[in-house]
Amino acid sequence: MITLQTDLTIIGSGIAGLSAALFAVQKGLGTVLIGDGGASEFASGLLDVLGAFSGESITQWDDPWAGIAALPQRFPGHPYNCLQAGEIEQALAEVVRALSGAGLAYAGDHQKKNVRIMTGPGRYKLTYRVPETMWPGVEAFEDKSPCLVVDFHGLKDFSGPWLRSSLAEVWPGLRTERIRFPETQGKPELLAVRLAQSLESEQVREKLAGAVAPLIRGDKFLAFPALLGMYSSGRIRAELEERLGVSVFEIPIMPPSVPGLRLLETLGGILNGYSCFRRESGKRVCRARQEASKEFVLNLDDGGRICKVISRRVILATGRFLGRGLQAEPGCIREAVFDLPVVHPGEDGVWHREDLFDQRGHPANRAGLEVDPTFRPLDRQGNVLYENLYAVGSILAHSDWMRMKCGAGVAIASAFKAVGSCL
Ligand SMILES: Cc1cc2nc3c(=O)[nH]c(=O)nc-3n(C[C@H](O)[C@H](O)[C@H](O)COP(=O)(O)OP(=O)(O)OC[C@H]3O[C@@H](n4cnc5c(N)ncnc54)[C@H](O)[C@@H]3O)c2cc1C
Repeated sequence: MITLQTDLTIIGSGIAGLSAALFAVQKGLGTVLIGDGGASEFASGLLDVLGAFSGESITQWDDPWAGIAALPQRFPGHPYNCLQAGEIEQALAEVVRALSGAGLAYAGDHQKKNVRIMTGPGRYKLTYRVPETMWPGVEAFEDKSPCLVVDFHGLKDFSGPWLRSSLAEVWPGLRTERIRFPETQGKPELLAVRLAQSLESEQVREKLAGAVAPLIRGDKFLAFPALLGMYSSGRIRAELEERLGVSVFEIPIMPPSVPGLRLLETLGGILNGYSCFRRESGKRVCRARQEASKEFVLNLDDGGRICKVISRRVILATGRFLGRGLQAEPGCIREAVFDLPVVHPGEDGVWHREDLFDQRGHPANRAGLEVDPTFRPLDRQGNVLYENLYAVGSILAHSDWMRMKCGAGVAIASAFKAVGSCL
C-alpha cells in the first residue's frame, strides 16, 4: 500500500480540477490531483462564461457581465453569486494566460463580449473565449463571407452538406467539398482524434494542402472540422493559411472534441512542470473519511492496489452524472465520494421534462451541492459540513450549464475562489 501526505488534494481532473490545481501550484501549495479522466473528453474547448437565462422565455446575453449582474435576482443560488465579477475575470484570464504560454492560444481578449460561433450541426453558440484556431470563424459567421467547408469521407462526427443545408438561407456563400483525408485509403470510418494526431506530420499536412488547393475558388475563408493537430494546432492552422492563401479556421464538432482534449492536455502539461504537484491519473477515490485531526483520508481504487492519500484540505471537482460525481438512484441523487447532501430544485419531484429541448431546462441539471460563499458544502440546515472541504465546477447546484452556457466559467471561477479560500 502506498500512502501520500499532502496539503491539498483535488479529486477530479476535468476543467474545474485542473484549474484548481493550476491556481494552487502557482501559490506553491503541495497538491495531489486524482482523476480517472472519465467524462472529461466532453469538454468542448470553448470557454463559456454566461450565454443565456433559461426559463419560460430565453434571454441571451451578448454581454455576459450584464447577465452576471442580473443573476442574484433571477437565480439566487447560482455559484457566480459567490464571486465578484472581477474574480471571475481574473480567474479566466489566468487560465487563458497559462494556456497561451504553453502554446494553446485563445482569442477574444480584446472584447468583453460573447461571440457567436458556428457549430458542426449548423447552429450558432454564444461563448466567451475561443481557441485561436476558431477565431476567423467568428468573423466569417458575422459577415457571411464566401467560405469553403471541407469535410472527409468516413468522418461521422461532421458533415459539411448538413451544415450547408442548415445555413443555406442565411449564408448563401457557404460551399462544401468532401475529400479523402491523406493516407486513409481503405479505412471506412475515421476518428477526429486520430486525424488530428496524423496532421502533426508535415507530410500529411502537405498532402492535405495539395488536395484542398484546387478546390478554392474565390473563397475568403476555408473551414475544417476541429482536428487541425493535437499539439501544435496554432502552427498547423497558420501553415495551411500560408500554403493555401486563405484565412483558415476550425469548426467545433461532436465529442470527443479535439479542442477539449488539447485544453485538458495542455493544462496537465503545465502542471507537470511544478515540483509541488503530483498527479495520480486513471484512479478514482472510492472512500473518504475525516480523522480527529481534521485531515482527510482518501482511499484510491487503483485497479486492485489501494493507495491512500492523507490531506489537510480537499477540493471536490468530480463533475456530474457522466463522470459519476453525482449518481442517480431511485428517488434521489447522491454525491459519490463524501455522501454530501444534494439539493434537487425540481418541482414536484420532476427531474426531466418531456421535451428534451424544453427551454426551461431539466430540473435534474440544476441538482447538486449547495455551498457557502467560500465554496464549502453545506448540510440541509445551511451549516458548513467540513471546514477544510471545498466543492467546485459542475457538481454545484443551481447552474444548468447546458441552458445557461456557463460550464467552463463556473468551473474556473469556482476553482479560483476555493483555492483562495484554502489559503
Ligand atoms: C457534451 C458536453 C459539451 C459541453 N460543451 C461545453 C461548452 O461548449 N462550453 C463550456 O463552457 N462547457 C461545456 N460543457 C460543460 C463543461 O465540460 C463542464 O461544465 C466543465 O468541464 C466543468 O466540468 P468539471 O470539471 O466540473 O467536471 P467534469 O468535466 O465532469 O470532470 C470531472 C472529472 O472527475 C472525475 N471523477 C468523478 N468522480 C471521481 C472520483 N471518485 N475519483 C476520481 N475522479 C473522479 C470524472 O471522471 C471526470 O473526469 C460541456 C459538457 C458536455 C458533457
